[in-house]
Amino acid sequence: MLDTGMQDIVSTTRAHVSAVMADPARWALFLDIDGTLIDVAPTPDAAIVPRGLAQMLGRVARGLGDALALSTGRRIAAADRLFAPLKLVTSGVHGTELRMAPRGEVTMLAPPVPSELVQAVNKLTQMAGGILVEQKGAGMAVHYRNAPETRPALDAELACIVRRWDAFEVRPGRKVLEVLPRGYSKGTALARLMRQPPFRGRLPVMIGDDHGDESALAEAQRLGGVGLRVAGEHFGPAVADFDSAAGVRAWLSVLIGRLEQQRAIGQAWPNA
Ligand SMILES: [Mg+2]
Repeated sequence: MLDTGMQDIVSTTRAHVSAVMADPARWALFLDIDGTLIDVAPTPDAAIVPRGLAQMLGRVARGLGDALALSTGRRIAAADRLFAPLKLVTSGVHGTELRMAPRGEVTMLAPPVPSELVQAVNKLTQMAGGILVEQKGAGMAVHYRNAPETRPALDAELACIVRRWDAFEVRPGRKVLEVLPRGYSKGTALARLMRQPPFRGRLPVMIGDDHGDESALAEAQRLGGVGLRVAGEHFGPAVADFDSAAGVRAWLSVLIGRLEQQRAIGQAWPNA
């Protein structure tokens, strides 16, 4: 038997999901990638994209009139490689890179990380084997999934390094510490896209699984939309709307059915 709080969460989630399913063309969709569309891998390069996922995303984008954006901590070029040849509206490196149209240019919203900061952060790989430092244009990621015992020392060292750069801050993620410019997040990117067609006039639905998604989940809700959480290392099952990335993909396939059904009705009855 579920307690009352749990029942509330479950019924609220069902209401949100049914609202989107009832009239999907009213909504704009924002999707995190790692942990949301695909399972988290030991390193970013080891991520496996399930067969058919790129085609699914293309069909969702078509059904939503391109009001579908990927919202990722990866660089946009890295996201493109996962789903090639598909290109979607994408915000990369936590809102520091943006492509506002599927075939548009990638705009760097924040300057690259200064080389002195890059060098200082790169030296953290010397602390222990298994620490991976990723240079991502306007940000950097220090992955410690393969050396979890180093987290306290990494926290201290990185805080000490980044303290010298006012424009940057350290943000935690799933077995990663990110060095990012202040004032940019998945939330700021979502807000910016929602001011532009084809997103403007729709309600945002953000789906994410991690600390870095919180800003976009909150922004979607602030704009009258919905933030949906995927269970994993950050969100426990009690607060999550999806149990896994596989659950999100199953939801997307139902959404495609609804979108294509609406489209068929629109074509058969253009004035309906
Ligand atoms: Mg994620």
